[in-house]
Amino acid sequence: MKTTEKYPPSQTVLLGKSQQELTQWVEKFGQPPYRGKQLHQWLYQKGARSLENITVFPKQWRQTVADYPIGRSKIHHCSIASDETRKYLLQLRDGLIVETVGIPTAKRLTVCVSSQVGCPMACDFCATGKGGFSRNLQAYEIIDQVLTVQEDFKRRVSHVVFMGMGEPILNLEEVVKAVKILNQDVEIGQRSLTISTVGLPGKIRQLAQQKLQITFAVSLHASNQKLREKLIPSARRYPLEKLLQECREYVQITKRRVSFEYILLAEVNDLPENALELAKHLRGFQTHVNLIPYNPISEVDYQRPSKFRIQRFMDLLKQENIQTSIRYSRGLEANAACGQLRAYYNNEGKTPGA
Ligand code: SAH
Repeated sequence: MKTTEKYPPSQTVLLGKSQQELTQWVEKFGQPPYRGKQLHQWLYQKGARSLENITVFPKQWRQTVADYPIGRSKIHHCSIASDETRKYLLQLRDGLIVETVGIPTAKRLTVCVSSQVGCPMACDFCATGKGGFSRNLQAYEIIDQVLTVQEDFKRRVSHVVFMGMGEPILNLEEVVKAVKILNQDVEIGQRSLTISTVGLPGKIRQLAQQKLQITFAVSLHASNQKLREKLIPSARRYPLEKLLQECREYVQITKRRVSFEYILLAEVNDLPENALELAKHLRGFQTHVNLIPYNPISEVDYQRPSKFRIQRFMDLLKQENIQTSIRYSRGLEANAACGQLRAYYNNEGKTPGA
């Protein structure tokens, strides 16, 4: 489906507005201010999909504004993995499809949100990048992903990670706006919101200046500049030393720790010398390393390292006093794991060959 003129993605919708803005909106229709508070609660807490369903509103007025867009997407498809992870393909108002993943555990419900449709970064090991880039998401389209998962699981979302499709730092303004709304309006604690980025010159500093109390992760993936350039094309314009320097500034400005993600690719970046080289770069840095064993995608022939190699890498980092954990992604067989988003459908919402 092509972008339709009737609903350009930038047209004002209700989702994304603050309680104050919603109050101004209802007042334009001659409604009393308390209706703004009710609308806020129905949008962000009850997940209303249409104004017609807001039963506390007078029936006649509901009918007048029934068509006004709230800004919710349609669930185009949902696949459920055996570990209960659910991957959704959501159809946006302009017809484009974006992915979001709901990851439940006993105590948490985490949503892995997309910040862009597709991704321009083209990291060699990531399926999203192979599909190209369409556009940035608006803040409300990010909020909608969280509300959709909350509605489908019939459970409150406790954590949100910006680790779906896209590079959040390329869409910083809308991502920061979404973080603030998730915190203030959907009422998720800032520390339970994680932004993950590959890093671009100047952008980490720009994020730091927002002084958010979020969890911040940088996709490092390599222990030296040469290797990083091979895996992440944009690294050519961003020397490792400069990236690490900006991360140090992030810690100074926000007083929050930076964690690093490191994908493990067998025989490529999982050797003992890579672990030692990485430890050297991170010495004295109050940090945490998250090792992500590679999730296979069809376009490239990297291999996931054996358990022995993964453990060896972690032990070496720990010996060097670097806090380290391994992140085994959930949702593998629904193609919902890290890096697998967008592998098996195109943007017209069809599975290739179907
Ligand atoms: N653009 C952001 C968010 C991307 S996805 C970023 O780069 O940080 C979140 C994490 O999954 C990133 O660390 C990304 O590098 C990693 N990832 C991508 N492809 C992967 C794959 N095939 N297997 C495992 N992790 C992958």
